Amino acid sequence: MLALMRSAFLIVLIGIGPAFAQGSGDDASRAASTIDDTPPGTLNPQPLPPLADPNSPKIPAKELFARKLTPLPGPARAIGSYTRGCMTGAVALPITGPTWQVTRLSRDRNWGNPRLIQFIERLGAEGKKVGWNGLLVGDMAQPRGGPMMSDHAAHQIGIEVDIWFTPMPDHVLTRAEREFDDPKNVVLPDGLGVDPKIWTPAHMAIVKAAAEDPEVTRIFVNAAIKKQMCSEAGSDRAWLAKVRPWWGHAEHFHVRLACPADSPQCKLQPPVPPGDGCGHALDLWFRPGILHPRPPKGPVNPGPYVTLAGLPPACRAVVKAP
Ligand SMILES: [Zn+2]
Repeated sequence: MLALMRSAFLIVLIGIGPAFAQGSGDDASRAASTIDDTPPGTLNPQPLPPLADPNSPKIPAKELFARKLTPLPGPARAIGSYTRGCMTGAVALPITGPTWQVTRLSRDRNWGNPRLIQFIERLGAEGKKVGWNGLLVGDMAQPRGGPMMSDHAAHQIGIEVDIWFTPMPDHVLTRAEREFDDPKNVVLPDGLGVDPKIWTPAHMAIVKAAAEDPEVTRIFVNAAIKKQMCSEAGSDRAWLAKVRPWWGHAEHFHVRLACPADSPQCKLQPPVPPGDGCGHALDLWFRPGILHPRPPKGPVNPGPYVTLAGLPPACRAVVKAP
């Protein structure tokens, strides 16, 4: 029953509806600046073994996309939806920039649409102005996007990024430090609020700066973080609409950009509901069955994985191309 309630709740929260028009700031000409020249595509130290039967229609799509270590050259396009799609023309975010550093290089997930790279540059610079020393960047997407072998239902079309709730330190991190094994959780163990020993005004300011970016459509944070922001926001509240509560997201926030205007196959998501999202809808997240969903009984059936048939037809060509 609880599981059922949770599913119904999820459907209400996620919703799938009509397309919406999106604005797009236009600064596509800005290039990423960098002080690191690690060649893209050389970060993953352990490529996966070849598949016995890569042409089988039963192969999970994630197995195919995870084996593509280079982007598909050409125009940058987001194809499909955030959770069922792929991309072309991806570029790698340089692992060390003036206002960001990439973590977990072993995952080789610092790829994205150029618009995402530009957003990270913009947010890093904005962060400096509001007391956030720089961004520690987590997962973006694989070189050709698509489903991943671990974590994430989304992150498939190159216009999403996870950013740690830990500001960049003043030194260039070593490869080992970048694995970031113990990220800081800003939420108290009971899930009801943020940890006052960790939470600072700059935490709020960096999320607000992201939410105010015109290309950002949604930001996912833990419900306790949204609650904190609702209480701190004062009269300037319009930006709160884009900040959406979700499970987890206590060590990082997830930023989702709107579909780029030049990606006609990118599936638009309905805009966030009107209002700041701070009232009743947020309270629902603190009901016991929602705040701490019961773990499933017995062995977990992973279910049928998405195969290429479950992705937009164009993604087959994207992942099959050499
Ligand atoms: Zn994410």
